[in-house]
Amino acid sequence: MKPLAELTEPMVAQAIAAGVNTVILPLGATEQHGSHLPMGTDTWRAVALAERLAERLPVLVAPVIPIGCSDEHSGFAGLLSLDAETLAAVIVDCARRMVAWGVRHLIVLSAHGGNGHALTLAAARLQQEVPALAVWIPDAMLVCGATVLAIAEQDGIPLSALGLHAGEGETSELLHLSPEQVRMDLAVPGYTGDMPTALMQLVAVGTQALTLTGVVGDPRQADAGRGERYLVAQTACYETALRQWLTQTNPV
Ligand SMILES: [Zn+2]
Repeated sequence: MKPLAELTEPMVAQAIAAGVNTVILPLGATEQHGSHLPMGTDTWRAVALAERLAERLPVLVAPVIPIGCSDEHSGFAGLLSLDAETLAAVIVDCARRMVAWGVRHLIVLSAHGGNGHALTLAAARLQQEVPALAVWIPDAMLVCGATVLAIAEQDGIPLSALGLHAGEGETSELLHLSPEQVRMDLAVPGYTGDMPTALMQLVAVGTQALTLTGVVGDPRQADAGRGERYLVAQTACYETALRQWLTQTNPV
């Protein structure tokens, strides 16, 4: 289906009447992604995954929320960020309106790890306050992490380069999605140590304490073809998990 924002009201009503009562709400972020990727990197990635899923499944795609919880990038220019309670409230407010016109399944698809706490808050509130809606908030690492890492390893890209933020992974994806936005001439390595440690450090002390380049990983070997393979593989992982969730879910 086309994105919700491109449909007319009768088209939405018709879709709901035909049983299309699932919405994907993509969440992005506006935060530094090194000197070589744009602020909206996670937003473009969230939209791409949601729209690819909508090509395969009978779902509506809500407009992306382009500002997430990104205070781990404090100190870098360009940052926009919401408090976790605010983002959770935006999700809950949208969900409440969706139920009113017939939505019964909501998938909150976040392409930014820093949104995790807000998603936990939103899940708890949705269960309490919007019980008519079955909600799935996939954990990207759990659903897709191993598959993405396997593709990288096949191509000789270690996890330390694939990275967690603006590394080979995200850079390859942007090279596929929007190459004109990528400045490979400015791509430099950032933190390339142990990634589980980096993940904890990002939350505890922020990106600047880890690396002044703003990059966690090494983007220099990024490749558009591999980026497409990452996105195709992630879409397939989400599709499988989503189909399974939909068949298991019994909305009120
Ligand atoms: Zn990112």
